[in-house]
Amino acid sequence: MSATPACPQCTLENTYADGALMICADCGFEWTAEEGVGSGVVVRDSNGNVLAAGDTVTVIKDLKVKGSSIPLKQGTVIRNIRLVEDDAEHIEGNSDKIKGLVLKTCFLKKA
Ligand SMILES: [Zn+2]
Repeated sequence: MSATPACPQCTLENTYADGALMICADCGFEWTAEEGVGSGVVVRDSNGNVLAAGDTVTVIKDLKVKGSSIPLKQGTVIRNIRLVEDDAEHIEGNSDKIKGLVLKTCFLKKA
């Protein structure tokens, strides 16, 4: 089994996992390993900034869009992004011209 993280309460490493729950044998503190974004994946932009649903991002290079003849231009602003469940590499959003985009986060920068 993989090592469990140290207890956030007493910082000792005598911890174990019980399903999604982490339990500290020393102080009895219980917490879930998967905190933050609902699905447990942390989505980051090209600079390593964490992205959350509702954020605004900027496209950092021209991208071809599947099913569209219009390319997505560098500098295009995508407002109110949505995260893709269990997928840290893509977000969904709309540009002014193209709706329903699925974009790779490595081509995005948090605005
Ligand atoms: Zn503890």
